[in-house]
Amino acid sequence: MFYLMLAGIAFIGLAIALFQMRTHPKGLYVLFFVEMWERFSYYGMRALLVLYLTKHFLFDRTDAYGLYGAYITLVYITPVIGGFIADKYLGARKAVLFGGILLVLGHLGMAFEGEQVAVGQVADPDVLNVFYFSLALIIAGVGFLKANISTIVGMLYEKTDIRRDSAFTLFYVGINLGSTFGVLLAGGLGETYGWKYGFGAAGVGMLLGLVMFVIFKPVLQGKGEPKDLAYLKEKIFLGLDREWLTYIATGFAVLLFWQLVRSQGTVNLLLVGFGALVVGYILYTSVLKLEAQERNRIFVALFLISVNVLFWGLFEQTGSSLTLYTEDSVDRVIFGQEIKTSIFQSINAIYIVLLGAPLAGMWAWLGRRGLEPSTPMKFALAVFQLGLGFLVLVWGAGNGQNLTPVIFIFLIYLLHTTGELCMSPVGLSAMTRLAPTKMVGLMMGTWFLASAAGNSVSAIIAQATAVVGPNGESMVLDVYSKVGWYAIGISVLMALAAPIIKKGMHLDTLENDVEEGTPAE
Ligand code: GLU
Repeated sequence: MFYLMLAGIAFIGLAIALFQMRTHPKGLYVLFFVEMWERFSYYGMRALLVLYLTKHFLFDRTDAYGLYGAYITLVYITPVIGGFIADKYLGARKAVLFGGILLVLGHLGMAFEGEQVAVGQVADPDVLNVFYFSLALIIAGVGFLKANISTIVGMLYEKTDIRRDSAFTLFYVGINLGSTFGVLLAGGLGETYGWKYGFGAAGVGMLLGLVMFVIFKPVLQGKGEPKDLAYLKEKIFLGLDREWLTYIATGFAVLLFWQLVRSQGTVNLLLVGFGALVVGYILYTSVLKLEAQERNRIFVALFLISVNVLFWGLFEQTGSSLTLYTEDSVDRVIFGQEIKTSIFQSINAIYIVLLGAPLAGMWAWLGRRGLEPSTPMKFALAVFQLGLGFLVLVWGAGNGQNLTPVIFIFLIYLLHTTGELCMSPVGLSAMTRLAPTKMVGLMMGTWFLASAAGNSVSAIIAQATAVVGPNGESMVLDVYSKVGWYAIGISVLMALAAPIIKKGMHLDTLENDVEEGTPAE
């Protein structure tokens, strides 16, 4: 019943989003559905991963969390490389196509599960190797697809087109529809009928996305093609051109990820080192190679990227400390029935599916009247709502003697989701607008790298909530209260600085890309 209700809400959200999209280029429909299937496979598989590790391969929890952490970090590190390669020569469309193929192979590879490991036995190393290899294919696949598909969304619009934030908000609804259906369908199949069915469903979903992307290529009207085909096809090594060398090199990278994903410590080091390298490279390029206004826009983009780290660092308590709080301290009885804690994790995606399209409509409505808040102001609003969400929960918990009424969990998720909608899709949109065409994939990849960093920060905050007070009492509400007030303080500073930051975006001199041609209507 509950599942049917969720699916029903998701379909309503889909209908509203499709209706809103009628005023947008046709290409948005294609990218919406392709990304929906990609996220279907990603979140469907992710929902099963830790369960699969602990129940099928009998990993202990620490090892399972370690592998999970390494995997989700690597998945958000690789889009920088995919974005960079697309900028330099491959083009975003070919990158998405190649990423999609790797993802289909990876998800289908996950469906090879071997025998259930018996208690006291260890998993068959060959089966484990296939499993790690499948994860490595997914890591490389997301690297090619995730940033570049968002870049193509941006290419459908002129830089000065006021529909851009709305477009990304609708695209974001597609992401969350995929996540809702992925968890319900692939996750549900895997847990109920057997892991391979869940993973297989994820693979089939991605295959559908890939087929759509191929069939509907003409609708993209040449957006995201390589900027210099002759350069791409130039044979430079052993009779192989740059395109094929990229595909072959990716094979070697997959072998590297195959090993790396087993070592959380190395991946964390890689995140820090690689992050510093990427930011250093962006600064170096913008200071030495860009003219003043382009450089300022990149600085604004870097500022937004740093807010992304902060935002996900706080927001991602959802899967960790907030889940345990919901389990231990919330009265989860609704209409006489106790709701399982894990179900609350789907609330965020459902809110986005329902609220995304109305918000996209609101941005468009305000935009037409010249009243739309600037990007830095939307970011300030996002951090404010994030902080307020925590404070509302702390307030609702009272003195912590009684169970917290469940309405406050719905409220914190609501505020965090409206915050997310003010930041995450708006940030994607900003990357495509602020970066010069030759750097847009790189900046988009860096945006996701910041998400990886945010996730690591969130683990540190979650650990802080686990510390007990002098009398053995839980400190989680104290941490939430601090975090809430800090976030509100920071958001006020951000709001004050917003007009200055907006100036750095030089919106008045933003030029449409000549090589992109006319807007695709
Ligand atoms: N839910 C979003 C997605 O999967 C979050 C991405 C992010 O962390 O930036 O695309």
